[in-house]
Amino acid sequence: MRVMAQMAMVMNLDKCIGCHTCSVTCKQAWTNRTGTEYVWFNNVETRPGQGYPRTYEDQEQWKGGWELNKRGRLKLRAGGRFKKLATIFSNPKMPSIQDYYEPWTYDYSTLTDAPAQEHTPVARPQSLLTGKNMKVEWSSNWDDNLGGSAATAKHDPMLAKIADKVRMEFEETFMFYLPRICEHCLNPSCAASCPSGAIYKRSEDGIVLVDQDRCRGWRMCVSGCPYKKVYFNHKTGKAEKCTFCFPRIEVGLPTVCAETCVGRLRYIGLILYDADAVLEAASVPDDHDLYEAQRALLLDPNDSEVVRAAERDGIPHDWIEAAQRSPIHALINVFKVALPLHPEYRTMPMVWYIPPLSPVVDVVKDTGYDAEDRTNLFAAIDALRIPIEYLAELFTAGDVAVVDKVLKKLAAMRCYMRDINMGREPDASIPAAVD
Ligand code: SF4
Ligand code: SF4
Repeated sequence: MRVMAQMAMVMNLDKCIGCHTCSVTCKQAWTNRTGTEYVWFNNVETRPGQGYPRTYEDQEQWKGGWELNKRGRLKLRAGGRFKKLATIFSNPKMPSIQDYYEPWTYDYSTLTDAPAQEHTPVARPQSLLTGKNMKVEWSSNWDDNLGGSAATAKHDPMLAKIADKVRMEFEETFMFYLPRICEHCLNPSCAASCPSGAIYKRSEDGIVLVDQDRCRGWRMCVSGCPYKKVYFNHKTGKAEKCTFCFPRIEVGLPTVCAETCVGRLRYIGLILYDADAVLEAASVPDDHDLYEAQRALLLDPNDSEVVRAAERDGIPHDWIEAAQRSPIHALINVFKVALPLHPEYRTMPMVWYIPPLSPVVDVVKDTGYDAEDRTNLFAAIDALRIPIEYLAELFTAGDVAVVDKVLKKLAAMRCYMRDINMGREPDASIPAAVD
């Protein structure tokens, strides 16, 4: 066992309202410069939806680019030596600016200089890249307008996978928000794909950074990251990505997105993991085993053997104490309510999610019960608005049983706390029912 420390984040999706405060404050802090207009280190996706950049989850389209194979190692997908060389030099498998969205402002001269006329003039969208007026045809959260309707199934690769299992009648449509930053992976394919060795994972806290002096603008990291969380700055010719706000972390402050989140849904903290076991965990043959394999990598910071090994491996004692206080270990490994995003990408992502419990449709309609009511607790889970299969495609490579267990636990916790908050004796049998 070789113990290393890692900064990680858990987000509680039931609390996200899609307000984008996190995105805007992050942008003001980190990407408020020429060349990064289209860049959102933090974005908040509409689900179901195409994501940002659009359809990034359809990994088949990056064929010819990179993939992590079942041994957890990165390899070029293009066959043959010549094709591989050609791929390296041309690197065509990247999202286009239209897939991110062409950033725009408004041409206010159409308001200020407008002559007197019958209709109110409107400010025309104007491209921030070309300065020309433009027709806006796509941007992030475009899917909001579809309101989770069946139309999104055409565009959302995850929803398309389970299309035969979900009913998308009007009253059964669903929508929630998925905030995303770089995953600061334990097995980062962006770093493995960089020919210049410019991307590195900090040994002290696992934050993945781009050395701007070493970056030569190959953009292999853009095609190599399955989450598409490295961006190319067209002004500087260098790659840029979320830094987990390391200058703030180093002085004990939270990331900007976590500090400004109005839903208070982002938990951040240090965790300890076994660095010797990462590749083995990333190479379990069955995608369904990846969640458990990834969870098992994370060590119990209260275990005396782990503490001794961490001290032996040079982790400062106050860092070990920080890991013991961290909510991350508790949410992932003690309560087991947090799940990794797309574990099947095999990069061992370190931003985890508590799946949304969401409102209940049938039960509310028929009986008035909801997911917090002890009299009908698990029946309510069976009538969740968001199809469990959809959440499983996002967080467990399709393993519905794991998500079902997490949602039941969340419902039981709500029910238990409702009793306490209402001044009633909580039902002591509830915790045991979902343990
Ligand atoms: Fe690298 Fe992408 Fe993982 Fe971030 S999410 S560490 S950019 S592979
Ligand atoms: Fe969601 Fe918080 Fe971001 Fe608002 S600030 S979109 S609630 S993560």
